[in-house]
Amino acid sequence: MTRTQTSEDLFARARQIVPGGVNSPVRAFGAVGGTPRFMAAGEGPYITDVDGNRYVDLVCSWGPMILGHRHPAVVSAVEEALARGLSFGTATEGEVRLAEEIVSRVGPVEKVRLVSSGTEATMSAVRLARGFTGRSKVVKFAGCYHGHVDALLASAGSGVVTFGLPDTPGVTGASAADTIVLPYNAMEAVEEAFRQFEIACVITEACPANMGVVPPAEGFNRRLRELCAEHGALLIVDEVLTGFRVSAAGWYGLEPVEADLMTFGKVMGGGLPAAAFGGRADVMALLAPEGPVYQAGTLSGNPLACAAGLATLRACDDDVYDRLDASALVIGRAASDALAAAGVPHRLQRAGNLFSIFFTDRPVTDFDTARTQNAEAYRAFFHSMLDQGVYLPPSAYEAWFVSAAHDDEALTRVAEALPAAAKAAAQAL
Ligand SMILES: *Cc1c(COP(=O)(O)O)cnc(C)c1O
Repeated sequence: MTRTQTSEDLFARARQIVPGGVNSPVRAFGAVGGTPRFMAAGEGPYITDVDGNRYVDLVCSWGPMILGHRHPAVVSAVEEALARGLSFGTATEGEVRLAEEIVSRVGPVEKVRLVSSGTEATMSAVRLARGFTGRSKVVKFAGCYHGHVDALLASAGSGVVTFGLPDTPGVTGASAADTIVLPYNAMEAVEEAFRQFEIACVITEACPANMGVVPPAEGFNRRLRELCAEHGALLIVDEVLTGFRVSAAGWYGLEPVEADLMTFGKVMGGGLPAAAFGGRADVMALLAPEGPVYQAGTLSGNPLACAAGLATLRACDDDVYDRLDASALVIGRAASDALAAAGVPHRLQRAGNLFSIFFTDRPVTDFDTARTQNAEAYRAFFHSMLDQGVYLPPSAYEAWFVSAAHDDEALTRVAEALPAAAKAAAQAL
């Protein structure tokens, strides 16, 4: 049995003073049960918890640790920045360099504004789109996650095209009512929404990966682009997760659909809080102080975060993306083979180096089909992997993340753990 006493003690202490004991819900292991592991350190592809258990990390901080933990170039860039000061609340050179790096990589981004979280990026992009168009309605897709922005925490109503309903207490009916929630990949529903409403913007994940990985149907993003242009709405493509992960230019590098606005986060902060939104120069010109749409942040463009982000992006060369692609292929295939051998119905879904496994035998094209999966099977699979030293996302609705530091030894450890985990999943069916 894995020793977990220290994690258990910390979790008990945390629950006394932090709601649910965690600072972001999925960390609490609610979907898989058991005690969440408190991590103490990371090195390359491994993380070590407070009881001394070491895991191959297939979460990678939900994406940012694309180079693995404590990559030397990132550590030394942060140390250099640290020696000069933590924060000034003024403009700094590092912000200019990070912004230039983003603009040079992603074609549609002519101007960019740095913020501290993906949530801020999407919230600000939606505000800017509303300010630019003078309209209020936002189209989003069920199962796409854009952070915890009020207007974007809305669920689909009963009809195919309806006003959104608040997804959580605390979001008002009024703010959800300006959101139209449509099934993902359902182009007729988008066309119908454009017939019925004056729409400020459509926001979509470049490739959804927050309901598991659900690639856009052929032509879906391109058609969104056309419809928005025809109707004077803006297209916001959310690349907080995919940006700089699936290629040097993110999803845009794989499928060059020109968004009006794009959002970034995760990888571009290299593990520190940095995110961004950017796009067309004429739209971005509306932002304060150049224009009237207000947006600000005390720690926006923080020197340490910019240093970590820039060092991470600069180290992400072709070789890194080749390694990520290869490792994702190996792990995905090995997991799928082990599940097939154990007779567990599943779907391996890929999009570039992103992948996830759905415990269902149906192809997953939207949130409704994603929800056909067997949560019990994942729970058993997850815990078997965890006990064998592999840290998977503690929810069946998340992508698995690899890093460039995942070497043969780490991949072998994953491969060796899979058959027993697949058997555990089979028993849970
Ligand atoms: C993670 C994520 C966000 C939110 O970013 P935070 O930094 O957690 O606020 C927004 N959009 C997508 C697609 C994400 O994956």
